Amino acid sequence: MRIIFIGAPGTGKGTQAQWITDKYNIPKISTGDILRNETLKKTELSKKIKKIISCGKLINDNIVIQLIRKRIKEKDCNQGFLLDGFPRTVNQANAIEKINVKIDCIIEFSLTEKLILERIRGRRIHIESGRIYHIIFNPPIVENKDNITGQPLIIRDDDKEEKIKKRIKEYKKFTIPLIKYYRHTAKLNNIKYYKIDASYTTLEIKKNIENIIKNNVLK
Ligand code: ADP
Ligand code: AMP
Repeated sequence: MRIIFIGAPGTGKGTQAQWITDKYNIPKISTGDILRNETLKKTELSKKIKKIISCGKLINDNIVIQLIRKRIKEKDCNQGFLLDGFPRTVNQANAIEKINVKIDCIIEFSLTEKLILERIRGRRIHIESGRIYHIIFNPPIVENKDNITGQPLIIRDDDKEEKIKKRIKEYKKFTIPLIKYYRHTAKLNNIKYYKIDASYTTLEIKKNIENIIKNNVLK
């Protein structure tokens, strides 16, 4: 089961990816999580990555492609994986096609900019695990603490108001063309493509995705 989640920042991809990992026993591979964990290191590369993420720009294709190639070779990917936030450019999509990674299903998350902003403004994360919270829609049990480790939650540096706008711009510039590309090529490559309305509750979206997987991916 190889699934891709595509959508603008804050549309709820990571939140849905969390239960998929548990239910279908496949890893969630989020390039955002991998890159954020890189920034915790003290290397030259990690400093560069931190700066680019913080500007709201996309990281160079070659760097993320290399990361993904390495990650999907790991043993836990034998039964499949869920790519969350990769690919984000046509170049990145071509790179996985070149190494013959066969994708079963793409799910596109669609949400208005107004709701995206509302969600991102309240987002809090546990950086090491990638667990995602929202101060209103999905608050932690103890205020500002991760439910599992009890460690403090953070506001992502790139979730600040002025950076969100830049990230949405990058999405329009690089990822909308990717969506067009997939809409055009999915059928030819036998990939199922679904666009979902991400304005519903987390539970409603979960049911929708469960049905898509049950009826179209697992059958
Ligand atoms: P993405 O991975 O697409 O950037 P997230 O999964 O991190 O998005 O979700 C962004 C924010 O919105 C988080 O704070 C999350 O808790 C919250 N959220 C996710 N899905 C929903 C939903 N269906 N309704 C309300 N809030 C949501
Ligand atoms: P995310 O956690 O998916 O919102 O990603 C956070 C940031 O990480 C993005 O704004 C980019 O700077 C970087 N990033 C994540 N995934 C990719 C990708 N596939 N290509 C380029 N940059 C990425």
